[in-house]
Amino acid sequence: MTADPNCIFCKIVAGQIPSKKVYEDGELLAFHDINPWAPVHVLVIPKAHLATLADAGPEHAAMLGRMLALAPRLMSELGVVNGFRTVINTGPDGGQEVYHLHMHVFGGPRPWKRG
Ligand code: AMP
Ligand code: ZN
Repeated sequence: MTADPNCIFCKIVAGQIPSKKVYEDGELLAFHDINPWAPVHVLVIPKAHLATLADAGPEHAAMLGRMLALAPRLMSELGVVNGFRTVINTGPDGGQEVYHLHMHVFGGPRPWKRG
C-alpha cells in the first residue's frame, strides 16, 4: 500500500496517530474530523496515499465510487436523518489543507459552525 511517511492521514491509517474510526475496510477508512463544522463531520479516505482528487485517474474510479457510496450508509449509522453534505477540497484554490485525498461528510441539525 502506498504511504507517505510525512502524511498525517497515512499515519492515521497506520495507527501512529489516534482517530475516532467509524468505518474501515481493506481500501477505505472513515473517522471523525478533529475540528467538526457540523454535529456530525466525518472524513472518508482511501488507505493508499493519493495527494488530491486532481491526481486521480480512471484506475481510481471504483475507489472514488466506493467513497461516495459509503456516505449515506455512514450518515444513517450515525443517526443523520435529514440530509447531509459531501465536500472534496482540491488543491490550494480548493482550500485543501491535508494533502491526502479525503471526502468530508457533514450532517446533523443546523445551525452548523461552518458550511
Ligand atoms: P481540508 O481543508 O479539506 O484539507 O480538510 C482537512 C481536514 O482534516 C480539516 O477539517 C481538519 O480538521 C481535519 N484534520 C486534520 N488533522 C486531523 C486529525 N488528526 N484527525 C482528524 N481530522 C483531522
Ligand atoms: Zn497520505
